[in-house]
Amino acid sequence: MKLLLHTCCAPCSVYCIETLRNEEIEPTVYWYNPNIHPYKEYEARRDCLKEYTKSIGVQAIFEDNYGLKEFCKNVISDLENRCVNYCYKVRLEQTAKYAKENGYDSFSTTLLVSPYQNHDALKKLGEKLAKKYGIEFVYRDFRVGFREGQRKARELGLYMQKYCGCIFSEQQIFITHTNTKPNLPEGFEFLPVKRNIMINKEKNDKKQYISLLLEADPSEKMVEKYLKDGDLFVLKYKDDTACIAVVTKLDNDTVELKNIVTKEEFRGKGYAKKMIKYLADNYKQRYKKMLVGTTENNIPFYVKQGFDKYEKTIKNFFIDNYEKEIWDGDLHCTDMYYYSKNLKK
Ligand code: SF4
Repeated sequence: MKLLLHTCCAPCSVYCIETLRNEEIEPTVYWYNPNIHPYKEYEARRDCLKEYTKSIGVQAIFEDNYGLKEFCKNVISDLENRCVNYCYKVRLEQTAKYAKENGYDSFSTTLLVSPYQNHDALKKLGEKLAKKYGIEFVYRDFRVGFREGQRKARELGLYMQKYCGCIFSEQQIFITHTNTKPNLPEGFEFLPVKRNIMINKEKNDKKQYISLLLEADPSEKMVEKYLKDGDLFVLKYKDDTACIAVVTKLDNDTVELKNIVTKEEFRGKGYAKKMIKYLADNYKQRYKKMLVGTTENNIPFYVKQGFDKYEKTIKNFFIDNYEKEIWDGDLHCTDMYYYSKNLKK
């Protein structure tokens, strides 16, 4: 798929580009934002995006158009509705048009990541322009990754703007204090991330966590197998790894929590619970169900975390698949019990 991604700034692009790349869609970043004032601010956001796209090796096109006069002329008569009536339209229309004229088969926008934008209006507009120009609008509710993207952007030292873009939004933030409230997807809330706790997806050196994963699943062969294709998440308390989890994709609707383990010194502090909540939020946009296989002793823990639907039992799983006997406290484990969590609830 050849996708042109309208991009409003580098920080908002972080999560969107990562998500698309995870879906094996390589976007081309498209800068067209005649709504950012004053000029030095426009320049700072544009130049930061230039640097960032270069650093991650993504193709980028920059349409330079400061456009202050044109913008003001078009919004001044109805400032309240300027975002939907003009600002979104002018940027997305130019993106769809450029995409069509230059051989792209789809377009999208990083504006979909911001809980401060009118998400439904953006979606509707994207779909309308898709019809008008005869190309696909790739809609994703990127808002679930807003906080994660912003955090990564800060870590990368990207330029972080303090207001949406136009001079009127600057006034809202600094003088009238009437900034819009975040508008989040249904059933979604930002994780109450406590200071000093962070959850990251580890992409580079997953094998460094094998010894910890073996504490929950003692078969190295098994762990290596699911770690290879699975997503590994690491919860850190300050700089220490406190809890890790591996999730694999089973089919288009289902993911499986293959392993979750908390380091001994961090047990009993609710980190596994936090991790499961984070994973559910992370996967609920694309998947309906999360499965977990467990020994009998751990069933009550998972049921409490929302894995309340019994799926199946695999008899003698631990006998047939493990070289040594598996004991969980006093329990000799033989069967594996599967439960699932409805991610859409
Ligand atoms: S607040 Fe943001 S989206 Fe609305 S008009 Fe200003 S720059 Fe555009």
